[in-house]
Amino acid sequence: MVQIDKVNKSYGGTQVLFDIDLEVSQGETVCIIGPSGSGKSTLLRCVNYLEEINSGQIWVDHDLVGYRVAGGRLHELRENEACKQRVDIGMVFQNFNLFPHMTAIDNITLGPILAKRISKANARKAAQELLNRVGLGGKEHHYPSQLSGGQQQRVAIARALAMEPKVMLFDEPTSALDPELVGEVLAVMKDLAQSGSTTMLVVTHEIGFAREVADRVVFMDAGRIVEVGSPSELLDTPKEERTRAFLSAVL
Ligand code: ADP
Ligand code: MG
Repeated sequence: MVQIDKVNKSYGGTQVLFDIDLEVSQGETVCIIGPSGSGKSTLLRCVNYLEEINSGQIWVDHDLVGYRVAGGRLHELRENEACKQRVDIGMVFQNFNLFPHMTAIDNITLGPILAKRISKANARKAAQELLNRVGLGGKEHHYPSQLSGGQQQRVAIARALAMEPKVMLFDEPTSALDPELVGEVLAVMKDLAQSGSTTMLVVTHEIGFAREVADRVVFMDAGRIVEVGSPSELLDTPKEERTRAFLSAVL
């Protein structure tokens, strides 16, 4: 579903991703862990084409991210075309990023109505089901400011799911939350992962979540993938010294 081939990325003269290779299968949950500044957010942003890469290729369900094929040649996407491609990729950010002047249900229905041309009635029906799924039935007419951080993040997850994306990207979705609110968001993500149909790429500091929910865990450091394995391989018997050092500092 996602194929990342030899991706390099620099900001100005500073290279922040080095030869990144990673494949994520349909329905798979892959967690990315690693120290701050190691390039985890940048990698997600490249998959979503919020950043351009300098070399390599990223494919999402057989579409080359940032390009379209016409007349047998590749053409870079214009911004409006990039938006269309992004519809296939859901992203959940650390700081929720809900529209503050819109209720929970309006936050969720906006994308489907505008970008997918779904009728208002059908969009609201689907949004209602999603709110129930994330445990927020009854909160449809609340504004973000009337919701806790954990509730806002669950609305943000419902909003991303409403677009029926092929892939869901999560960038440290619980790190801005008070500790007592982390569990409710992780529970929604776990439910989503275990439903089996959603392909998920999750940057997280929650090692317990990665252990329990991930099919594979990726450890990144200094712009490189150092090691990839099953949760028990990577977390219990890491091969690389850098992985061991990171885990002993966070566990
Ligand atoms: P992580 O998410 O693992 O903490 P990031 O992907 O945010 O790491 O950052 C990787 C590196 O790229 C860091 O050195 C960071 O300072 C740099 N960086 C991130 N975004 C930008 C940007 N927009 N401009 C310049 N440098 C950036
Ligand atoms: Mg980050």
